[in-house]
Order: sequence, then structure tokens, then C-alpha cells
Amino acid sequence: MKVKIIGAGLAGCEAAWYLAKKGYEVELYDMKPIKRSPAHSTDNFAELVCSNSLKNDSLTNACGLLKLEMEKLGSIVMESAKLSRVEAGSCLAVDRTLFSEYITKKIKSLPNVKFISEEVKEIDPNIPTIIATGPLTSDPLCDAIKNFFGMDDFYFFDAQAPIIYADSVDYDKVYLKSRYDKGEAAYYNCPFTKEEFEIFYHELVNAEAHDFKDFEINVFEGCMPIEIMAKRGEKTLTFGPLKPVGLRKPNGESPYAVVQLRFDDASKTMFNLVGFQTHLDFPEQKRVFRLIPGLEKARFVKYGRMHKNTFINAPKILKPTYQCKDYDNIFIAGQLSGVEGYIESASSGIYAAINMDRYLQGKDPLILSRKTIMGSLSLYITDPNIKEFQPMNANFGILEDLDVAHKKVDRKELYSKRAIEAFDEEIKCL
Ligand SMILES: Cc1cc2nc3c(=O)[nH]c(=O)nc-3n(C[C@H](O)[C@H](O)[C@H](O)COP(=O)(O)OP(=O)(O)OC[C@H]3O[C@@H](n4cnc5c(N)ncnc54)[C@H](O)[C@@H]3O)c2cc1C
Repeated sequence: MKVKIIGAGLAGCEAAWYLAKKGYEVELYDMKPIKRSPAHSTDNFAELVCSNSLKNDSLTNACGLLKLEMEKLGSIVMESAKLSRVEAGSCLAVDRTLFSEYITKKIKSLPNVKFISEEVKEIDPNIPTIIATGPLTSDPLCDAIKNFFGMDDFYFFDAQAPIIYADSVDYDKVYLKSRYDKGEAAYYNCPFTKEEFEIFYHELVNAEAHDFKDFEINVFEGCMPIEIMAKRGEKTLTFGPLKPVGLRKPNGESPYAVVQLRFDDASKTMFNLVGFQTHLDFPEQKRVFRLIPGLEKARFVKYGRMHKNTFINAPKILKPTYQCKDYDNIFIAGQLSGVEGYIESASSGIYAAINMDRYLQGKDPLILSRKTIMGSLSLYITDPNIKEFQPMNANFGILEDLDVAHKKVDRKELYSKRAIEAFDEEIKCL
């Protein structure tokens, strides 16, 4: 049986590897080397377009746990990462060239994988297909996806504010209130005194930021990073995203400026820093944003980032199996599906392939639970209660809560132990 995979990136390679091993005739399409996205610079498969770090490798970290789940499913990305590993403390970092070369060679060596170098511009719902063309999907295919699913269901976001853990906020300093008390109080407010704001402002405008790549500059015109906005003057912030009007403190005082925190998930474990899309270096984000009153000990689920990022409205379009709700033959995996990060993208490729196989064999889908990281990610991105969807990476905040209170250090171990046990049990059907 034939399966078409579009995109030989991290997700597409995992999907091709899994399905080829299952005996399918895989047609793997990539526009390389005829055409490259602005961030891709080699002709290899599974290219790491930016950092060479695949993040934390310990089992008390959600991304480390995700790696273990992938290994249990025979991940080619993990196989290659272990062989091309470079020294990076608790992180799994790789020699990016060796990493991609190994995957390219292994996939090309499979007799039932046919690589087709072509820019795909159409989707054929009659052919079983996994679309894994990533955050920089080429424009003609973007248009085809827009037409296929309807314009509204295709997001094109380029900026993300940092997300922090709700339990790391100092609730003695922040307060719940909506501006002018309109509607239900939905925001926690971090109030600045004038002195606190001046220190914060000084550090913000002088913090280290990534350089914008040429292709990114136009993309960001309509969506300004907080540090660039700040450089236009203090008032741009205090009359803009940090405006304090209508946000008096519970004791009646008027703060000089206010940062608002909005819950980012239905279970209220994470906050988004409203209006804080940023291009600052990650360590700088931690240093400067911890100067916000109430966030002195903030732990970051993910840092703000800005880059072109194409992703679908997964809660509307996808099932938790990465299969499209309205087109049984079509699966969408990788960053395009709304997961975020190298490892997350790769893992979704395996998960989609498993379910493509099960669908073609007439078997029940495999839907992993929220005890596992792979299950939590797919259930998060396809949660129909999410109204304004933003991509998500692996973190413990999206897992099903533990039913008992534990000290922080214990919780990670408990999450991890429970995830491994649940995963082993749930994949027994494979
Ligand atoms: C600039 C940038 C930097 C990033 N940095 C990081 C980082 O440091 N760490 C991290 O964890 N994540 C990072 N990400 C996010 C994400 O993890 C990566 O983009 C990851 O590579 C996504 O994997 P993927 O398989 O979904 O897509 P990709 O790995 O991008 O693979 C998609 C493939 O599809 C091909 N393709 C695109 N359109 C077509 C078409 N029409 N026809 C045929 N082929 C097509 C491309 O050539 C590419 O090979 C970054 C993203 C961007 C855009």
C-alpha cells in the first residue's frame, strides 16, 4: 500500500521511517534541493534550522521524557541523536551535520522509500498523505492548505510571548482584576511603582536580543517586540501594553505601570505575559522579566520567540491522532500541526504514522492518555475548548494533574514514573 509524505523534515522522516518499516511503499516528497525555505541551508533531510540542542535529556524533564517515549517507538531521530551527540551537560545536543546525514542515509537506504524532489502545491484527499512541511511551508502549499480547510483555519503567527508556570508567581504581589472591572476578572496584574518600572525599563532596552534574519524583518512589521517598542520611549509602554488605567490595586492605589498575566490553559497551570512578544535572548528574558513585580521567581514553560510560523487551527481541524476530522486520508504532523520544537515535531511524526497505519489496517486508533507526554501534547493541541490556539511544546503543565499534593521535587519524579508506566501499557497494542 502506498503512503505519501510531504516534507522530509523531522516529522516527515519519523513518519517515513515508521511506515517503511511496516512495509508501506512510501513516497517522500521534499522541495529540496530544487527550492529551500529561507531557514534551511543544506540538502539533507531532518535539518536543524537553528539550535543544535534537542533540549533536556533527563527523565524529570518533560522533553527528556518525550525522548524516551520516542525511543520506545523506534525513533530514527533519537537513534541518530545518540550517535551524533556532542557534550552539552544535561541537554542532548548533536553535531547537526552528522545528525542529518545519518537520517538521510538511513531513509534513502530503505528500498520501499522513494524520494521525490518536488515542491508539492496541491493536496489530493484520495491519497493517504501525511503533511509535514513545517513552520516554513512554501507559499503555494500554504495556499492549497488554506483552500482545502478554509481560510480561517490556517494560522500564520510570528510572535509569541513567554509562558510561565502559574505556581511560580508571587500572589502576595499580583492581584486579579479586569480593566475597569469589566466582565469576569480574568487577568492577574503585576503592578510597578515608578522606581521599579525605571529599573525594568532600563534593563529591557539594554538587553541582548537575537539578530533578525533578513527574511524575518518584513514578517514582523505588524507585530512589534516589546523591547523594540520600549526603545521608542517609556510612554510607548505605559500608554501601550503596560498601561495601568482601570487597574487600581485592591488597596485603591494606582500603579505606575502594569503587566497583565492571562491563563494559557484550561487547567490554569500557566500564564502568558500579555503583549510581551519578544526577540530577546532566552537568558535575558529570564533576567529582565523577573524584574516584573510578582515574577521574581518565575519559571518559564517557554520563552517568547519570533519567527515565521505556519500552523493550522488544530483544535478545529485535527483529531488527537493527527488525522484530519473531515478527511480520513489526511494527517498533519510536525510544527505545522501546532506542536512546537524539534523533538515535539519529530514525535508527532511517529504518532501520526502509527495512526495512519492503524487507519489503513482498519484498526482502532491509538489515542495516548494525558499521563504520557505524547498523548498530552496531541490532546492539548486538539482541545476544542481552546479558543485562541497557540502552538505548544512538551512540559509537565499539560499533563493530567497528580491526584496528591507533593513537594515540587517529588512531583517531577512522580509525573515521570506515571508517564513511563502508562506509556508502556498503552503501546502494548502495537
Ligand atoms: C527559524 C526557526 C528556528 C527554529 N529554531 C528552533 C530551535 O532552536 N529549537 C527547536 O526546538 N525548534 C526550533 N524551531 C521550531 C521547529 O522545531 C523546527 O522548525 C522543526 O524543524 C520543525 O520540524 P518539522 O518536521 O515540522 O518541519 P521541518 O523540519 O521544517 O521540515 C519541513 C520540510 O518540508 C519541506 N517543505 C516545505 N514546503 C514544502 C512543499 N511545498 N513541498 C515539499 N516540501 C516542502 C522543507 O524543505 C523541509 O525539509 C525553529 C523554527 C524556525 C522557523
